[in-house]
Amino acid sequence: MTQPSVAIIGAGLTGLLISQRLNSAGIITTIFDKSRGVSGRVATRRVELDGHTLRFDHGTPSLTASQAAQLGIQSVSTEQPLDPWFAPSSNAREEPHYTLANGMNGIGKWLAQGKNVALNSPVTGLQSSTKSRAWQIASDSTLLPATYDLVITTTPPLQAAKILETTDSALAYKLKCLSPEGCWSLMLVTEHPLDTPPLLTQRDHLIERVISEHTKGRFSNEWGVYTLQANRAWSQRRMQEDPMRVAEQLLNELKHMGYELPTLLYQRMHRWLYAGVATPFGEAFLLDAQRRLMCAGDWCLGNDIESAVKSADAASSAAIELFGHSS
Ligand SMILES: Cc1cc2nc3c(=O)[nH]c(=O)nc-3n(C[C@H](O)[C@H](O)[C@H](O)COP(=O)(O)OP(=O)(O)OC[C@H]3O[C@@H](n4cnc5c(N)ncnc54)[C@H](O)[C@@H]3O)c2cc1C
Repeated sequence: MTQPSVAIIGAGLTGLLISQRLNSAGIITTIFDKSRGVSGRVATRRVELDGHTLRFDHGTPSLTASQAAQLGIQSVSTEQPLDPWFAPSSNAREEPHYTLANGMNGIGKWLAQGKNVALNSPVTGLQSSTKSRAWQIASDSTLLPATYDLVITTTPPLQAAKILETTDSALAYKLKCLSPEGCWSLMLVTEHPLDTPPLLTQRDHLIERVISEHTKGRFSNEWGVYTLQANRAWSQRRMQEDPMRVAEQLLNELKHMGYELPTLLYQRMHRWLYAGVATPFGEAFLLDAQRRLMCAGDWCLGNDIESAVKSADAASSAAIELFGHSS
């Protein structure tokens, strides 16, 4: 029997973990991602300022020890990519956090090692091949020649719906019922650091997190290097607003929180259109077994890395079973 071949759309943690599990079971995978790098919402932006390179983790800022273990990163050693960031002292229930000096997107890069990943490849549709029960991928206006026995989307749900609408599968309708939640992130450099802890978290406030990037063992020229993450419901209502207006509101809020702002050296907004979902789907994956289409992602079960791992595990077990392989 020829080895089955699977196309995975999205090189975030879910897609990369599914690829890892399927490859271990002898199933060939190709991952397509629209971006120029892997790791999805575990993202890092590099900025050059006055000849210095700064890094902002403007998606997931860090991993807890248990998240690292779930991703298969068992310990911090030279082969593993994590550096300790901080251990909360005031709240004993909170776990220590880990990060990467070169940016959190190193997690995705690490997981992507040895995998077949096609970057800068936005998938716009699927076409069933006339000869066999197999799928071809359309990227922009080009239909790619390779065929796949199964396609697994791991993009956020509305992006997956757009792709699946080009098929006659009912999955697209289910995906469209999920409402996205956006998140505005402000990347900021101040002349001097503010008096904030490494990770300031305040639930249900306009600014939900202040992440001090300069405390992550990175060169920062003694500047204050920050990522501010806004409340998601607040952000969702302002997704179409002028970024500069939103930035102004976030900076005013920082002042209301009691932080006197030194001279700003840099500021840039990032609009996460699909930071998460208002209500998760409630099942670990979606499957159209007849058409051999599957959808997975954190949004199936939640808005976090634990949910991405659980969805990836369940989806890959189902895919392995579909092909009658053993995991
Ligand atoms: C601001 C922010 C802060 C967060 N903080 C935390 C946190 O503290 N703790 C935590 O556990 N989680 C956090 N998360 C959530 C965490 O990042 C996600 O749970 C996790 O990254 C989801 O991975 P995924 O692979 O399911 O999805 P994604 O990472 O979104 O991956 C999907 C991939 O699909 C690609 N894609 C989309 N459309 C197409 C297309 N048409 N063709 C090809 N590729 C496509 C995208 O480029 C992306 O790489 C945060 C997220 C955000 C946005």
